[in-house]
Amino acid sequence: MASPSQEKKVVIVGAGIFGVSTALWMYKRGGYAVTILDKATVLPAPDAASTDINKIIRSGDYADPTIAALNVDAVNEWRKPEWEGTYHESGVVMTAEAGSAGNAYVESSYKNVCDNGIPAKHFKTSNEIRSAWPAKFRGEDVVSTISNAVSAVLPSASSSSTPRLGEFHNRTAYLNPNSGWAEAGRAVSVGLRRITHEYGGVVRAGCEVRALVEEEGKDGKKVVKGVELCSGEKVMGDIVIIAAGAWTPALFAQDGMEHLPQVVATGQSVAKVQLTPEEAELYSGNPVEPNPNSQNDEVCGKNGISVPRTILTPGGEGGFIPLDMLKKLRGHLCSVYPDLGKRDFIATRLCWYLDTPDGDWLIDWHPKKENLLFATAGCGHAFKFLPNIGREIVNKIEGTLAPALENKWRFDGRHSARDAGKDSDLRGNESHERVPIKVEELATAHDLKADRFAAPQRIGTHSRESKL
Ligand SMILES: Cc1cc2nc3c(=O)[nH]c(=O)nc-3n(C[C@H](O)[C@H](O)[C@H](O)COP(=O)(O)OP(=O)(O)OC[C@H]3O[C@@H](n4cnc5c(N)ncnc54)[C@H](O)[C@@H]3O)c2cc1C
Repeated sequence: MASPSQEKKVVIVGAGIFGVSTALWMYKRGGYAVTILDKATVLPAPDAASTDINKIIRSGDYADPTIAALNVDAVNEWRKPEWEGTYHESGVVMTAEAGSAGNAYVESSYKNVCDNGIPAKHFKTSNEIRSAWPAKFRGEDVVSTISNAVSAVLPSASSSSTPRLGEFHNRTAYLNPNSGWAEAGRAVSVGLRRITHEYGGVVRAGCEVRALVEEEGKDGKKVVKGVELCSGEKVMGDIVIIAAGAWTPALFAQDGMEHLPQVVATGQSVAKVQLTPEEAELYSGNPVEPNPNSQNDEVCGKNGISVPRTILTPGGEGGFIPLDMLKKLRGHLCSVYPDLGKRDFIATRLCWYLDTPDGDWLIDWHPKKENLLFATAGCGHAFKFLPNIGREIVNKIEGTLAPALENKWRFDGRHSARDAGKDSDLRGNESHERVPIKVEELATAHDLKADRFAAPQRIGTHSRESKL
């Protein structure tokens, strides 16, 4: 075991899943003393991508076999007591429109799930897909006592004796019983508490990093010695890890920093419906169904760099999303759970991804700066790897990362699906447009009302389900 003087001092910028998982695995390995710095004054940061009520935890549901295997391993870790029951194995239904690029993705993903020994069920018809839900959702259990209880307490439910489920016409799907969802914000809190209480690591809130502390090195390279906070304080370390999520390009757009053209911050629209405790119970056993089309990339431009606009941004406190996205979310909710589609949304939020061209994360050393590692660009699907991604990041630092992963997560030389001449990327996402956010096109509180856009909308072929 390394003595304190032999330990490598590590400064991690960002207390989202990349930062937290890296710190945890550094302490598991030994030989590191970690300080995590986060700009938010409360942690987990209320506007971080990792902070949420829930996130979908797929288990091997990836078209890429290497990432599928890493994902199955992550779920094995999620089941351990150290995550304090934040993971719930409800099953996940992966679905796509028949014949779409998303469907090809779902088929490859199904194969990988089966290859990992998971007893997934493949569905080809609407009725088969609906069979993944409990009978009471299919209208085959009209005397369900739970349904009756809901009818009694909910005016909107009293018109039908059982909650309804969408038809899933023209779709194919499979059910993975080993997937589920996690209480996202609580899981990050559990990780942060273990870092400080179990391992003696340092986590500092309210510490926004604005620059790197560098010295001249050999061969024109800079040597990174630490970071400078907005307060002017310098926090020194042997290794600096940038795990700043969607704020990474903004940090590297500051004076004296080099832009990072490899990554772009994109806003994703989320809307919430309030369930009663009885409904929460009723719906809690259902599989999760990732929404293929509810999300669309939006870029908030500033000097050509996309900068997150969140509830902590002055003027962004309402969390309002583009009206167009609100309509799509309403349409999708109506098509899967028609009863819930009649409910007002209680809140919306723009949640920020950091995307690479190919959807693979960025876990690599900066080519021109020594001691500076990037562990970021979750590309909308990294949360589920909270329990094990840090192990791979420590492998990168120690030079033991598997070559296949080294290659995927490299700093340079990425190609988008479109550039590579493919219909969709590794995750089944067809090429899609990024649209600048226009404040005047954001929804208002009035648009959250159910009667504004209640008519179900057809779900197109554009698939982003694999991003979750
Ligand atoms: C709407 C939505 C739904 C998603 N659903 C899923 C899902 O179902 N399943 C799944 O696996 N993944 C999902 N994801 C993706 C997943 O949430 C992200 O990939 C992951 O959480 C990214 O973690 P992170 O650590 O990179 O970033 P973040 O969680 O955003 O953390 C970055 C941290 O860095 C801090 N920071 C930034 N700049 C600075 C600075 N200059 N100085 C100090 N601190 C700084 C921030 O305050 C923040 O706390 C979803 C993402 C979104 C937006």
